Amino acid sequence: MRPIRSGDRGPAVTEIRTVLATLDLLSPSVPDADEFDAHTERAVRAFQQSRGLSVDGRVGAETWRALDAARWRLGARTLYHAVPEPLTGEDVRSLQERLLEMGYDVGRADAIYGVRTSRAVAQFQREVGLPPDGTCGPHTMNALRRLGRKVVGGRPQWLRESDAIRQSGPTLVGRTIVVDPGHGGTDPGVVVPDGALRWTEADLVHDLASRLEGRLAAAGVRVQLTRGPALRECLPDVDRAHLANSLGADVFISLHLDGHANPAAEGVATYHYGTDNGVTSATGERLAGLVQREIVARTGLRDCRTHAKAWDLLRLTRMPAVRVEVGYLTSPTDRAQLVDPRFRDRVVEAIVAAVQRMYYPVERDVPTGSIDVSELRAVVAAGTVVD
Ligand SMILES: [Zn+2]
Repeated sequence: MRPIRSGDRGPAVTEIRTVLATLDLLSPSVPDADEFDAHTERAVRAFQQSRGLSVDGRVGAETWRALDAARWRLGARTLYHAVPEPLTGEDVRSLQERLLEMGYDVGRADAIYGVRTSRAVAQFQREVGLPPDGTCGPHTMNALRRLGRKVVGGRPQWLRESDAIRQSGPTLVGRTIVVDPGHGGTDPGVVVPDGALRWTEADLVHDLASRLEGRLAAAGVRVQLTRGPALRECLPDVDRAHLANSLGADVFISLHLDGHANPAAEGVATYHYGTDNGVTSATGERLAGLVQREIVARTGLRDCRTHAKAWDLLRLTRMPAVRVEVGYLTSPTDRAQLVDPRFRDRVVEAIVAAVQRMYYPVERDVPTGSIDVSELRAVVAAGTVVD
């Protein structure tokens, strides 16, 4: 097609001007004027600039397609994953931005309704009780509208998560917790030679996980480890997350040790799900804070604080999930402690205390370091906890 340019007249120009006006690039005072005047050209240039198109002030095929996509407002048509030519448009971009705000993974808001967007829509649908077909039609639009701005910074699932925790009471009895010792098999994680010995992250975190399993089981928790001590191949994090989901776990705890070329790097850090635009899992963040504070208080490891990350493990798990980096194996100070079984017991007690506190209502929370983990066992043994 011949580019529509300055001086042209006709219905195509009217259409171009109308789209530019809805994008606030052109004053809408004379929306149906049919002349491609200097204002129109300026608006076309601004539009091309904003879309990363070559800026020539004329409407050729490419700019026409971009303008066509730009006029769709969210809710004006049903969106679905079309192959091989995916739907594109401003409505897709708005939907993607909305989903991102709520913590769904659509990748980038690129205005293209691809597989990832379709999957995120399906996940949203599942969580609000709609058939998860990945198509954004009137029902899904209604659900998005009903949620309004309420859920900015939290998926509906996360709101339900906090509610469920509040309503389920403080007992640990009968809960399911998945404990994930990192690495394993062909992947030893951080490795530090020590004379004839060789310390590996995979072995040490498996030992930590087994101790944690024992403590939690004693408190009445059903515990599932994601791997044994002699795993053949390293399980990807995606599979570990799916395992936790398929078990309907209440909590997911991943255990790692850190490593750094600089032996002075030391300390403990805890990670929960969150993205750069401030989206975070509220319960995950709370659990991470509790784990971090309890470990620091009970072990004296340096406090490297809690951090939000969008790692697969944290993103794909559908329950409060944390990953703890329990010290640096490469730090002589941290390592001397980590290889001591009594120290590992203290770490484990700290994690159990943190999980217990997560189930206390915030107003009845107790000071860090104050829960005697062995008492949880006594309470279970005495049968005073209602199952
Ligand atoms: Zn690791």
